[in-house]
Amino acid sequence: MTTPPLIRPIGILGGTFDPIHHGHLRLALEALEQCDLRQVRFIPNGTPPHRGTPFSTPQQRLEMVRLALQGNPSFTLDEREIFRAGPCYSVHTLESLREELGAQQPICLLLGSDAFLQLHTWHQWTRLFELAHIVVMQRPGLPLGNAMLQADEVLRLEYFARLAPAPLKLHEQAAGAIVALDMPLLEISATDIRCRAATGRHLRYLVPDSVAWYIHTHHLYPTC
Ligand code: ATP
Repeated sequence: MTTPPLIRPIGILGGTFDPIHHGHLRLALEALEQCDLRQVRFIPNGTPPHRGTPFSTPQQRLEMVRLALQGNPSFTLDEREIFRAGPCYSVHTLESLREELGAQQPICLLLGSDAFLQLHTWHQWTRLFELAHIVVMQRPGLPLGNAMLQADEVLRLEYFARLAPAPLKLHEQAAGAIVALDMPLLEISATDIRCRAATGRHLRYLVPDSVAWYIHTHHLYPTC
């Protein structure tokens, strides 16, 4: 009996990207390499259910992501959420991706640990595991191992039940596992970048030059 060929997973990185920065891009690259992903799709949020209205328009956020991804064929922009009216829930985005990509394709939802620690508050959060794997990256100031000990009990139980021993396990099934990856800690946040822009400070080496140029030219983030 022959075993079916393994299918390389597709990574999904959702975010407000207000603006996209090197923390997001490095996260995607680490996941791509460590999990042997086929591609990473960047999906800018429309109306994020967990936070206030973004500072820049959907069109501007989309354009900054487009500029940031230029030159890397493994990174693609997915516009399915950004113009959707009403709140965008990840579970609905993953349902539409699953429909498009088929039942066999492994899908990995990429999250920083700050986002992962709030997962149990997301709409239909346990259904996410029927649709995708979850790949969690450590974020500055929040080492995941320690953080899980303090995490909400339902999330902690799910985490330890689903934790996969190695990233390559993600090729063996389409959804349902959790993998925790180390990444170099880049203490960069969109909030900090907006404040730097508001006070006229350089954004170089925090965001791609093309994104810094776009923010400057369009006078984004006059206040923070
Ligand atoms: P803000 O400062 O406005 O809250 P942000 O920089 O956290 O924004 P988001 O667009 O909300 O950016 O983040 C999208 C995803 O990227 C989340 O899963 C978040 O955890 C992750 N992320 C953001 N910044 C970093 C970083 N510096 N290193 C690793 N992951 C990050």
